[in-house]
Amino acid sequence: MKADVVIVGAGASGIGAGLTLAEAGKQVILLEKGDKFGGAGMFGAQGLFAVGSSQQEAEGNSFTLKQAYQELVGYTHYRSNSALTKAILSKSASTIDWLSERGLKTELVNNTQEVHQDHPKVYHQYIDKFAGFDRLMQNFKDQGGRLLLQTAGVEIIRDQDQVTGIKVIQNKKDFVIDCSIVIAADGGFIGNSDLVKEHLAIDSNNLYSMGERKATGDGIKMLAQLGADTSHIGVFENHAASVISPHDAKWHNDTIFTLTNLPFLWVDQSGKRFVDESVCYDFALWGNITYTIGGAYYFILDQALVDKLSDQELNWTNSFERTFVSLAHKPMTHKVGPFPQIDVDLEEAVAKGAAWKAENLKELAEQLQVSKETLGQTVNRYNMQVAQKEDSDFYKPSEFMRFSVAQGPFYAVKARSTSLGTIGGIETNERMEVLKTNKKPVQGTFVAGNNASGMYDTSYPTLEGISCAFAWNSGRIAGESAIKLLDVGTETYYD
Ligand SMILES: Cc1cc2nc3c(=O)[nH]c(=O)nc-3n(C[C@H](O)[C@H](O)[C@H](O)COP(=O)(O)OP(=O)(O)OC[C@H]3O[C@@H](n4cnc5c(N)ncnc54)[C@H](O)[C@@H]3O)c2cc1C
Repeated sequence: MKADVVIVGAGASGIGAGLTLAEAGKQVILLEKGDKFGGAGMFGAQGLFAVGSSQQEAEGNSFTLKQAYQELVGYTHYRSNSALTKAILSKSASTIDWLSERGLKTELVNNTQEVHQDHPKVYHQYIDKFAGFDRLMQNFKDQGGRLLLQTAGVEIIRDQDQVTGIKVIQNKKDFVIDCSIVIAADGGFIGNSDLVKEHLAIDSNNLYSMGERKATGDGIKMLAQLGADTSHIGVFENHAASVISPHDAKWHNDTIFTLTNLPFLWVDQSGKRFVDESVCYDFALWGNITYTIGGAYYFILDQALVDKLSDQELNWTNSFERTFVSLAHKPMTHKVGPFPQIDVDLEEAVAKGAAWKAENLKELAEQLQVSKETLGQTVNRYNMQVAQKEDSDFYKPSEFMRFSVAQGPFYAVKARSTSLGTIGGIETNERMEVLKTNKKPVQGTFVAGNNASGMYDTSYPTLEGISCAFAWNSGRIAGESAIKLLDVGTETYYD
């Protein structure tokens, strides 16, 4: 089998690169390890960021490329690649129309997180996502692109410095596809527990991954073998926090999910309060603080609050409400509850090993294996601040300083660090070339999406939809660079 270019991974970035190449008349093969294409870009994501799109312009949205650029490089303290950031942002507007013209339409919606409401609208939500991805893939095939499902790229073959092919595995058999260019777009390594453990800064038992399980770091490993620089590997897309059962991976309880999304009292694994809990209204920052304190905390409720919640509505906002209403085109309620089954739901969480219940705080501390004194002091101090309606420790807004923790029994529910994937691994530039530590390219190779370092510092920024924007735009750029390399030849391209 033969092609000009082989792309490893048929998710957002791989499809972006593939369609770009196929439309330019290049022979391109898109490898997909699974039996379905799309990756996290389709199964997980609901939309992407853009600045200056035709939809934004039509609304008179004044957010500029310069503002977006400065916001991003400011967020990363200039520890990201400015030229790459600029290239991604500059392309983002055109990508909205590009996707739409090829079958994947989006609509500009209100930012989906509570604290981003004063930020200009940037989130372009997919419309009819699965059908849209099907249309993109059909377009790819109509232009001569070939998709090989259940085919994993495993090794890039070279003769001297020239790529000559890629070894793939299909139905347990391996063979080589001849090609002169490989684009690694296989989504990072969140699906590889060994690699995750190696690069994670928290106990891996505290990590809940929502990311693509088939993303096992194949592309990063293949490129590292060719000398690619992986010095910035190990950035996780921390996103909110989740309550899980250690015994039952499929367990979910709606009440517990909603309670997790609210700013009650949170204590870390030593029993200390650690943050203004209304950080839950920004998913990246909430994810980051959870990661920073070791990947787990408990939210604490007392029976008085549980009783109240069982028959009264609370005029707080579920931090995920905007995401849901935006998808369903419904108005916001800014209310939660009542939860008539809350006692049963909490008992279920206890039975699932996700929560603990105790008659008094001492017993609760014992169950959580934290110091009784520390937990007692934390709760006493919090109660005093609730009485004063002022959080002088972490400045939680007074509207959330409402519920003391005073009347047993007491409940502690464990929330864990949650990741949408790994973001980065291979050093690259604004052309998505794979770089060695001396900044020279590994010729004939490009990288895109979650495999590529450069956009992020230690975490993903709060601009909504930026990771999918990175995937689509880096994929398109990698495709364009590969076209240029094919057109002008190695010597001229790398001159
Ligand atoms: C639940 C969830 C929700 C998200 N929501 C959003 C959102 O709303 N907005 C946003 O901007 N971002 C969101 N993200 C992040 C976004 O989905 C990713 O940043 C993006 O999909 C990354 O694109 P990618 O092409 O690198 O990887 P993916 O889209 O995951 O594609 C990688 C593909 O490569 C395949 N693959 C892996 N190894 C091989 C191999 N060896 N050979 C062949 N194929 C291989 C995988 O099977 C997969 O199909 C979300 C992520 C998750 C998990």
